[in-house]
Amino acid sequence: MDLDPTREQKDFRAEVRNWLKENIPKEPLPSMDTQEGFELHRTWEKKLFENGWSVITWPEKYGGRNLGVIEWLIFEEEYYHSGAPGRVNTNGINLLAPALFDFGSDEQKSRFLQAMASGEEIWAQGWSEPDAGSDLASIKTKAQKDGEWFVINGQKTWCSRGAWADWIFCIVRTDPDSERHQGLSYLLVPADSEGLDRRPVKRLDGEPAFAEIFFDDCRVHKSNLLGGEGEGWSVAMSTASNAERKPDPSLTEEVVDSWVRAHAYRWQAQRTATRIIEGESLNSEPSIMKVFWSELDVELHATALRILGNRSDLITDWIYESPENEWLMGYLFALAGPIYAGTNEIQRNIIAERVLGLPRK
Ligand SMILES: Cc1cc2nc3c(=O)[nH]c(=O)nc-3n(C[C@H](O)[C@H](O)[C@H](O)COP(=O)(O)OP(=O)(O)OC[C@H]3O[C@@H](n4cnc5c(N)ncnc54)[C@H](O)[C@@H]3O)c2cc1C
Repeated sequence: MDLDPTREQKDFRAEVRNWLKENIPKEPLPSMDTQEGFELHRTWEKKLFENGWSVITWPEKYGGRNLGVIEWLIFEEEYYHSGAPGRVNTNGINLLAPALFDFGSDEQKSRFLQAMASGEEIWAQGWSEPDAGSDLASIKTKAQKDGEWFVINGQKTWCSRGAWADWIFCIVRTDPDSERHQGLSYLLVPADSEGLDRRPVKRLDGEPAFAEIFFDDCRVHKSNLLGGEGEGWSVAMSTASNAERKPDPSLTEEVVDSWVRAHAYRWQAQRTATRIIEGESLNSEPSIMKVFWSELDVELHATALRILGNRSDLITDWIYESPENEWLMGYLFALAGPIYAGTNEIQRNIIAERVLGLPRK
């Protein structure tokens, strides 16, 4: 692993930093988990796309720059340092797009990728159900074949930004006699389909960040099947791989610990990138990374709240208007980290069995 950036990489970092400095909105956008904020974040996505910053690793024909994983890491570091708006189409760009690249037909790639990169079409993930979260294979939402169409019935839940998204990628059971991982299919569903009802659900911070999705004879054309019929599990798994007051001196250790762990995470990400470039398989390593960052995120925010003391409890009308509120809102969202993207208990099961080779029982 070479930690010294090349001349080109230094130039690239400077180019990203300058562009962001000149272009990020002067005032923070309203939360993307509100309807107004959602649309303003869409406009920001369009700007990123028009300037070639939306999907830098993708092929040029889909709006990317064909850059490598190290450039992507540089871009991400600069992006987050700059305080640029969150990426409202992250479900599309980070979760669905890799599956589209691996399993999509040429028609599907042409139809969906560029519209995703430009923010014209924003995606939501429709996987979880009331009785299927960690145990995703127990999903019950059915899609029955009817000629050229799939007819969907059932319910999805915890669909982030599902109330305003344009499309939803869903896993549904297409073989009624199947069980568990068998007989599932991956469908791309227009959110304005007849027979699809979206009901917003408020999150802990009071914002309607989630939606429940109800399907009642909702018809989706077979051209929106990603991968083969019954191959939904394989497709899904490809998706899955400041304050004025001085800090209390007793908190110094916690701050240093967070700093050290954040840097350890950064170097580990560099190491992972090097392994990807060298064609190595990551096996279950992402599970270790997921437990590490999600627990660090909670502890780092908790330390910040302890430094802020009582002021961190004062939520004003506009929750993101002060640094104190930002830390509190960040903490509330960090609490979700050990749950989403596969809970940490499940990740620890994977680490125990597949990395350490421990027996299942
Ligand atoms: C912020 C956020 C955003 C989300 N966005 C989306 C989205 O856009 N689309 C979507 O489809 N879903 C989304 N989800 C849902 C998320 O994927 C599920 O919450 C998650 O998979 C856990 O499922 P569950 O809530 O049903 O809990 P359960 O699966 O019922 O788990 C409850 C508890 O039991 C533990 N547990 C379960 N099984 C085991 C086991 N075998 N061994 C040890 N412990 C176990 C879990 O770790 C957890 O602590 C989101 C969730 C959050 C918090």
